[in-house]
Amino acid sequence: MTIEENVKKIMSNVDAAKAASSYSNQSVSVIAVTKYVGVKEAKEVVDQGISHLAENRVELFLEKYEALKERELTWHLIGNLQRRKVKNVINFVDYFHALDSVKLAQEISKRAEHPIKCFAEVNISGEASKHGFSKAELLSALTELSELAHLEIVGLMTMAPFEATEEECHNIFGQLKKLQVEISEMNLPKIPCTELSMGMSRDYEIAIQEGATFVRIGTEIFKDL
Ligand SMILES: *Cc1c(COP(=O)(O)O)cnc(C)c1O
Repeated sequence: MTIEENVKKIMSNVDAAKAASSYSNQSVSVIAVTKYVGVKEAKEVVDQGISHLAENRVELFLEKYEALKERELTWHLIGNLQRRKVKNVINFVDYFHALDSVKLAQEISKRAEHPIKCFAEVNISGEASKHGFSKAELLSALTELSELAHLEIVGLMTMAPFEATEEECHNIFGQLKKLQVEISEMNLPKIPCTELSMGMSRDYEIAIQEGATFVRIGTEIFKDL
């Protein structure tokens, strides 16, 4: 397989999942997660028309950003971020997907030179090993988050457990959708919360059916090369 073939297959699966979704006129952005590959493969994926790139670690993010900064791309940082590393990276980030505490949000707002679009990460499944706010924690943090100058909560992000069945994935993603709508309807300053970052290689079609607007795909783009 080539990256071109993998991307074509994914795009057609995305279209099919949109057609099967309960939400009409859903816009879905495919984010290529390049953490398993080098700059060469990342460039190839951009040549296939994908303009959203993501890394989960600061060092790898900066390496890819440096190599590809001449291209018109949207840059996503998707992994958990230590507070001491915020200042090194945050001003190169368009979307940060792993906001998991008020303290981290405060550090981001302090270091950012423009409002950073963030997804609040929610641990819907309640797995002990997962990062993220619980639903209750997020609801009680919203007022504080909405007071931060350089931070915008554009939406919510979650990950389904690795061993989750299809039914469990539907359930987890459906719960995140409900919470996103609930928060969006509060109309809080700087918390539009209209987007949903959910779905990876093994479950993006389910996530789209449940309302995902950003899917984060690595393995399926770069497999069998
Ligand atoms: C690695 C990673 C992905 C992509 O996972 P694949 O299963 O390779 O598609 C998505 N989201 C996060 C947060 C990741 O760390």
